[in-house]
Amino acid sequence: MISLEQARTRISLDLGVLPVVEVPVGEALGMVLAETVKASESIPPFPNTAMDGFAVRASDTDGATSDSPCVLPIVATIAAGTVAPRPMQHGEAMRIMTGAPLPHGADAVVMVELTRTEGDDVFVLDSVPVGNHIRGVGDDVQAGTEVVPQGTVLTAGHLGVLAGLGRTQVKVYRRARVGVMSTGDELVEGAQPLKPGQIRDSNRVTLLNLVAEAGCEPVDLGLIIDDEDVIRDALQVGISQCDAVLTSGGVSMGDYDFVKAVLSELGDFNWMQVAIKPAKPLAFGVMGDTPVFGLPGNPVSSMVSFELFARPALKHMMGHTSTERPRFTAAARTDLVRTVDGKVHFQRVVAEVGSDGRWTARSAGGQGSHQLTAMAAANALAVLADGSGVVEGDDVTIMYLG
Ligand code: AMP
Ligand code: MG
Repeated sequence: MISLEQARTRISLDLGVLPVVEVPVGEALGMVLAETVKASESIPPFPNTAMDGFAVRASDTDGATSDSPCVLPIVATIAAGTVAPRPMQHGEAMRIMTGAPLPHGADAVVMVELTRTEGDDVFVLDSVPVGNHIRGVGDDVQAGTEVVPQGTVLTAGHLGVLAGLGRTQVKVYRRARVGVMSTGDELVEGAQPLKPGQIRDSNRVTLLNLVAEAGCEPVDLGLIIDDEDVIRDALQVGISQCDAVLTSGGVSMGDYDFVKAVLSELGDFNWMQVAIKPAKPLAFGVMGDTPVFGLPGNPVSSMVSFELFARPALKHMMGHTSTERPRFTAAARTDLVRTVDGKVHFQRVVAEVGSDGRWTARSAGGQGSHQLTAMAAANALAVLADGSGVVEGDDVTIMYLG
């Protein structure tokens, strides 16, 4: 057996970063920015009001109170998207809506709540300082400054900033196209009645969706029987179409575990026994320049193996520098027991933040590597070093999958 760290180092040696492409801003969510975005213009582009109210000269409101208001004639109305018909003079007011440009001659806005109107006059019930409720040019973004640095993982907010600057395209690291196949003679697809010995393929839909969730483009390479020629053909199709390929099943010690045999025949493959539970067996290698991950067949093992090996690798290929799930310390709300076996265990847990702000974690159910429902119910993996585990109340490290 090799350690988890050794297995991960082995994989990282072979990984490159995908090319930079230009994509429409609206398609770049979660992608890594491959340029530093500078502002070509300021936001806001003109001084405007932050409130619905009246544009005034601040000095005209000096001394105004509700008992002794200052009275100004309303000479225009400025809606957002329009401009004042003329400059505003001393002793005048213009009705103005949030986001509308401040008229020339005005230097403050009185919010509507501090006014009362009678006919064409506004009664200002309080004095306001110069600049009141005015959003200046470049208050948010100054033209010429760096707004979003290279390497940023683009969020909805960043995309809004880019759109706000008039950007339609953005340079990012390409999404990895990731092929997924299930292998196993016992597997069937769909709702057909099961014949003796058959089970339904669950790994492919799980892995395709984990791939999508990681920001990659999933490619369904189908359900493949335990036959070396068929597996070889399917892998060749996969590597010709994809940036990475995930297989599930056929990497253990069984008589029909052909995936590892085909992989070692096709490239420089490592068949690893990693000191972890679940997900001990792993095949990894590069065919041409396409990394191939031979994940174990047990449904929980394939998911945990994806989390520990494939997901960080795919993130790295897509330009991410932070490729790991976050880890927290949680108080165990149930015993999380295990036996001594030289491996690190990853138990499926439900993690929550309590009202005291502390994480807690409780077992998500059956911990067998075939018990997918507990993995589905879990939002974290408790990382249990070799030993007897932890008892209720102890601290435990969790890897948050949220
Ligand atoms: P293997 O790694 O091929 O030895 O498979 C280990 C276990 O996982 C066996 O019980 C398989 O039936 C099961 N298994 C393999 N592939 C899948 C799959 N795609 N969906 C559900 N179970 C699977
Ligand atoms: Mg199998």
